[in-house]
Amino acid sequence: MRVYDLHTHSTASDGVLAPVALIERARSRSVDTLALTDHDTVGGIAEAREAAATEGIRLVAGVEISVSWRGHLIHVVGLGIDESDNDLTKGLESLRHRRDDRAEQMAIRLEKAGIPSALEGARRYQTTDILSRTHFARYLVEIGRVDSVDKAFKRFLSAGSPGHVPMQWATLAEAIDWITGAGGVAVVAHPGRYKIDEIQFDGFLEDFVESGGIGIEVVCSNLKPDQIKRFAGIAKKYGLRASAGSDFHSPKSNRELGRLAPLPEDVVPVWQDRDW
Ligand code: AMP
Ligand code: MN
Ligand code: MN
Ligand code: MN
Repeated sequence: MRVYDLHTHSTASDGVLAPVALIERARSRSVDTLALTDHDTVGGIAEAREAAATEGIRLVAGVEISVSWRGHLIHVVGLGIDESDNDLTKGLESLRHRRDDRAEQMAIRLEKAGIPSALEGARRYQTTDILSRTHFARYLVEIGRVDSVDKAFKRFLSAGSPGHVPMQWATLAEAIDWITGAGGVAVVAHPGRYKIDEIQFDGFLEDFVESGGIGIEVVCSNLKPDQIKRFAGIAKKYGLRASAGSDFHSPKSNRELGRLAPLPEDVVPVWQDRDW
């Protein structure tokens, strides 16, 4: 049986391992099919693909797109994309520009909250052209304003806190069109992490399916068996295929590469009938 991890990050966005190091870790953790799904960029795919060929890992080209749906930030993962697709790369580029604008606004808000030079500080953690809240969080930890990245989000960076800037990211239809237009499949990322009630989430899933989305992450890091059961039920209800991904960012976190429960037997895996 193959071991899949279809949701991971590298230094191309807010992960701490370069694509080559990520592939090496996949090999040492016995993951044989890995998707690199950086936030709003495909900048790490070429390097990952080359390393994967050397290490004997099957690489699935992927991306995790920031979507605004009725005021909620939702992440949509694209798997099996052609990363050179023109509409996809143009779309992702526009999201990265929005990130730069947001970062400037965030720095202004953080300054008012008593944190100077946050933009310069965050930029020191930035590794490519993606500027993420994670980079701000690492800076807040560095200067001792909080003692963990998680607290940086809770106190300063998440919706409703002083440094948060409301944004309009891609629409759901845009994100799914970019992914499917590039030959990929669109999957709802980490469905347990949205602050959205069940009725609204049903509405979201209806829109997702109607827009051409075909999958949902049923198995993610740290999910309890009853949560996996719930998401498997949702997958069946909406005719969605099931994906499995750790959302690995860093060796120091509790979302370890490839550390995932098996998919329940009554769902259709997202990789069925595909060459990965
Ligand atoms: P951004 O895409 O720049 O808005 O940042 C979102 C990223 O921040 C997510 O993909 C996570 O990697 C990270 N993140 C969000 N909330 C938390 C949290 N509570 N603790 C740690 N990281 C978080
Ligand atoms: Mn992230
Ligand atoms: Mn995410
Ligand atoms: Mn992710």
